[in-house]
Amino acid sequence: MTETCKYFIPGPTWVRPEILAEMTRPMIGHRSTEFRALFSRIVAGLGPLFNTSGDRFVATSSGTGVMQAALENCVNRRVLVTTNGAFSERFFAIAQSLGLEVDQLDAGWGNAVEPDALADHLGSRRAHYDAVTLTHNETSTGVTNDLAALARVVHEESPDSLVLVDAVSSLGGIEVRVDDWALDVCLASVQKGIALPPGITVFTVSPRALERAKKHPYRGTYFDFLAYKKHADDQSVPSTPSIPHFFALARQLDDMASEGLEARFERHRTMRDLTIQRTKRYARLASDPEHASPTVTALTPAMKPAEIRDEMKKRGYTIGGGYGQWKETTFRIGHIGDMGVAAVAEMLDVLDEVTR
Ligand code: PLP
Repeated sequence: MTETCKYFIPGPTWVRPEILAEMTRPMIGHRSTEFRALFSRIVAGLGPLFNTSGDRFVATSSGTGVMQAALENCVNRRVLVTTNGAFSERFFAIAQSLGLEVDQLDAGWGNAVEPDALADHLGSRRAHYDAVTLTHNETSTGVTNDLAALARVVHEESPDSLVLVDAVSSLGGIEVRVDDWALDVCLASVQKGIALPPGITVFTVSPRALERAKKHPYRGTYFDFLAYKKHADDQSVPSTPSIPHFFALARQLDDMASEGLEARFERHRTMRDLTIQRTKRYARLASDPEHASPTVTALTPAMKPAEIRDEMKKRGYTIGGGYGQWKETTFRIGHIGDMGVAAVAEMLDVLDEVTR
C-alpha cells in the first residue's frame, strides 16, 4: 500500500494513482464484446464483496440516486425508515419527496439503532410496511449499526417487508453479507470503502425485490431495476455508463481480493482503534463507543474543530468537518479505503502537534 495519503475525509477518499490511471484508458462501447468482458469481471468481483450469488448491478450515479431507486422500485405505499444521523435521515427525506407514507424510528444522533427497539416498533404497530430502510454505517456520527441483527428482526417481525440497505460507508471497509442476512437491496457508492473517485454505485437486488418492482408500473426509466436485470443478463447496463469508472472498478476489485477482504476489514479496525486511542488527550469520541465505526470517527475536541482543521491544512493534511447538526462541535477522520495504518499514524502525529 503506498503511504502518500494526506487526505482523511470520510469520502470521497484518497485514490491510489494506479486506480486513477485506469480511468485514462481508451474508450470502448458499452455494447461491445470488450465491455461485456469488463462487466462480467466486475460482477464476479462484486460477489465476494457483497457475499452474494444473486444479482449485482452498477449504476452511473452517486449513492443517493440508488437510495431513491430502491424506494421507487420497492415501495408502493408505506416504508419505515430507521435513523441515527444525517444519512439515514436522507432516506426519510427521499421517501417523503416521493409522496410515500413514511414512519421513522429514530435512535438519535450518536447512537446505534437497537434491534430491540426495531422489534418493539414492528411488533406493536398495525401498519404494514412495504420495506424497512437500514443504514449500515452512519457517516455523520461514525456509528456502525448491527446490520445482521436489524435485518433479522425485520424478517422475523415483518416477513413481507423488504430490507433496503445503505452500505455506502461500510462496503469494502466492513463486512457485508447480503445472502446470509437476506438483504433485498444493498447499495454503496464507490468513493468510500472501495476507494474510487465518486460517480458510480454498486448494488444488489434480491429476486423478491425484483418481483415487487414488477408490481410497480411507474418505476421511472433511469433507475428501473427490471431494466438493470435485463441488461445485466446480457453483461451490460441500460444506458451509457461512466466507462472510466468501470475500468477502475474492475482493477480495484482485483486489488481488494489480493489484499484479502478479511485483512482489509482488519486494517480498518486497526485504523479506528489507533485513531480513538491517539486522540483521547484532546478529544472525546462523539458517539457510542460500543458501535464505533471502523471507517470514520467523529470527535468532539477541546479546541474549536475549525481551528484544528485549518492548522492541519497548513501542514498539508485534510481531515473531515462535522456534519449537519454536529458541524460546529465535531470533526471527523475518515480512515477508509486504501490508506495504510502508517499513513493514519503519521496524520495522528501531526494532529497531536496541532492540538498542543
Ligand atoms: N449514505 C451514507 C451513509 C453516506 O455516507 C453518503 C454520503 O456520504 C450517502 C448515503 C450519499 O451517498 P452519495 O454522496 O454517493 O450520494
